[in-house]
Amino acid sequence: MKVDFLIVGAGFAGCTLAERIAVQLEKEVLLVEKRNHVGGNAYDYYNEDGILVQKYGPHIFHTNNKMVWDYLSQFTEWNNYVHRVLAKVKGKEVYLPINLDTMEKLFDRTFTPEELEDYFESRRVKVDEIKNSKDVVVSQVGEELYELFFKNYTKKQWGVYPDELDPQVTRRLPVRFNRDTRYFTDQYQGMPKHGYTKMFERMLDNRNIHILLNADYKEVVGETEYEKLIFTGPIDYFFNYKHGKLPYRSLDFKFETLSVERYQDAAVVNYPNDHDFTRITEFKHFYLQKHDKTTICYEYPKPEGDPYYPIPRAEYQEMYRKYEEEANKLNNVYFVGRLAEYRYLNMDQVVAGALELFNEV
Ligand code: FAD
Ligand code: UDP
Repeated sequence: MKVDFLIVGAGFAGCTLAERIAVQLEKEVLLVEKRNHVGGNAYDYYNEDGILVQKYGPHIFHTNNKMVWDYLSQFTEWNNYVHRVLAKVKGKEVYLPINLDTMEKLFDRTFTPEELEDYFESRRVKVDEIKNSKDVVVSQVGEELYELFFKNYTKKQWGVYPDELDPQVTRRLPVRFNRDTRYFTDQYQGMPKHGYTKMFERMLDNRNIHILLNADYKEVVGETEYEKLIFTGPIDYFFNYKHGKLPYRSLDFKFETLSVERYQDAAVVNYPNDHDFTRITEFKHFYLQKHDKTTICYEYPKPEGDPYYPIPRAEYQEMYRKYEEEANKLNNVYFVGRLAEYRYLNMDQVVAGALELFNEV
């Protein structure tokens, strides 16, 4: 087969570039995906009971990037879903990120914002330089809350305690002195009105885009003529692991459909200190789907398996840099996305990166 662009991986990165190249440049694209569906980790589908679920765990769209929001809004409407997360600690369910509401419920007392500032001030650990994800938390709220919410959850999720991870991991969660119980405060947030997969299908609905599912690109690359290659899979795999294997954190998803209308009070409930799973997602919250049953999903982190999370640690960044150097030496081959850049990126950041790369290409 002869095409202008060969794109590997049909997640946010691959689909955005395929759409832009097909529509704007009117060039032919072959999109190769090793799974049996498009959408990457954001793929969703109606399960056998007719409930819209996400195959790879909860994905909530949120961004402050108007360009990204406007771009995706061409392919979907959004519902007004606002994400809230509960954490089960000390037998109570409290909202995350830590805010006034969380603290009052946890300690059975009231706080004014000033009292809360004083409370944290008295418990804060003085850290000269924030070097890791533990420093981020203890320097804001002290040891007790660190132990309650972060220490064990992070160990389960990443296999190491927060003091062995770059600050960016726990920095994803702010501390609030108000009663804002939303998980994200971005200007734009919601779920695609009819799900992510429908959105991807609309992005890819173009006669210049040819989709090949169930195919690893190494199986087809020899039989395809192309001018440029865009790779969105794991960068170490591309280079046959010549500088070593980059570690990715993986997950097992265990789904259960229950004969009750509602299982829990928020779409996601975290279990920092109990059980082997980190959190339970109940998908019906995202779309307010009316149904007399509900589907939930447990997430069990593990070291091997499908690569989901690049691990933010300096030593792995060093290994990644070697791959990046190799990548920069190649002509007409581009690397973009969470796995190809080995970065803990959200969906909107991946779309922004893909749109940027499009301008370059
Ligand atoms: P991917 O979605 O991983 O797509 C890459 C594709 O390439 C995959 O489909 C893969 O099968 C394919 N591929 C890989 N290698 C090959 C090969 N050799 N040949 C052919 N195909 C190949 N982000 C948010 O913004 N909000 C959230 O709430 C959120 N929640 C998340 C929850 C979980 C559990 C996880 C794991 C991630 C979450 N994310 C969230 C991050 C989000 O999933 C990513 O930012 C986004 O999906 C990355 O898109 P991508 O195209 O870079 O990669
Ligand atoms: N985290 C935690 N306890 C929680 C929630 C999050 O320790 O109850 C830490 C954990 O290390 C996690 C990180 O904060 O990986 C970022 O959380 P986020 O919800 O952003 O993770 P993701 O959406 O990527 O699963």
